[in-house]
Amino acid sequence: MQEALKVILEIQELDMKMLRLMRVKKERQKELNHLRAIIDDFKRQVSEKDEAVFEIKKSIRIMETQVAEGALRIERLEAKQNAVKKVEEFNALSHEITSAERERTNFEQQLSDLTDQLSQEEDSLKQLNESLASTENNSRALEEEIKESIRLINEEGQILFKERESEKVKAPEEMLRIYERLLHNKKDRVLVPIENRTCGGCHIVLTAQHENLVRKGERLVFCEHCSRMHYWQESEVADGTSAAPKRRRRRTTTTS
Ligand SMILES: [Zn+2]
Repeated sequence: MQEALKVILEIQELDMKMLRLMRVKKERQKELNHLRAIIDDFKRQVSEKDEAVFEIKKSIRIMETQVAEGALRIERLEAKQNAVKKVEEFNALSHEITSAERERTNFEQQLSDLTDQLSQEEDSLKQLNESLASTENNSRALEEEIKESIRLINEEGQILFKERESEKVKAPEEMLRIYERLLHNKKDRVLVPIENRTCGGCHIVLTAQHENLVRKGERLVFCEHCSRMHYWQESEVADGTSAAPKRRRRRTTTTS
């Protein structure tokens, strides 16, 4: 029983390392995704701006045609006016020319507004492209660094996995199955020692009867509060539970 628990403890340490590793990997992947999202957002803005510039250029071409046609119409009306002899016809044509001129002025104003708009949008497109280029440039190095660190994490994970595989064969199947189910639920240490008659996992005080069962080590004993498995630390057996607090105090002073 004690030997089996020791194997599970070994496996647990490997699992803790693996959990930490996967947490780091997840963080790094998040950073990578964030970096890519920033660049994608820039690209989207550039493409929207490109589209806007294209639309304005199209409107400008239409407006230029309108202005040219307006000028032609005025020319034709003026030629016609030169040919008429009756006052009524002359006046009617004068009206038409005035309204054609008003229309042309209106088109010219619109064309001028569009030209201003185009130059603004082209400036902003240029700025966006510059920002995109510099962001891509800056993030390239960071992206490489993150990819490399993920590669190293994977390597370390492979080593941990192999170590675990070789430990696994030494563990009793049923105990391993229980341990793995608990680990899956808690994502934390699930085989914990009893310290000062409290659970090493949830730190709730246990009964003397419970402690004795664990000390005997005849079967698996679970914490009634957090369901973790308990084991008895050999050192506590040797020192006796009453000596434990003193020893722990010493330990804290040396580590601090
Ligand atoms: Zn507990």
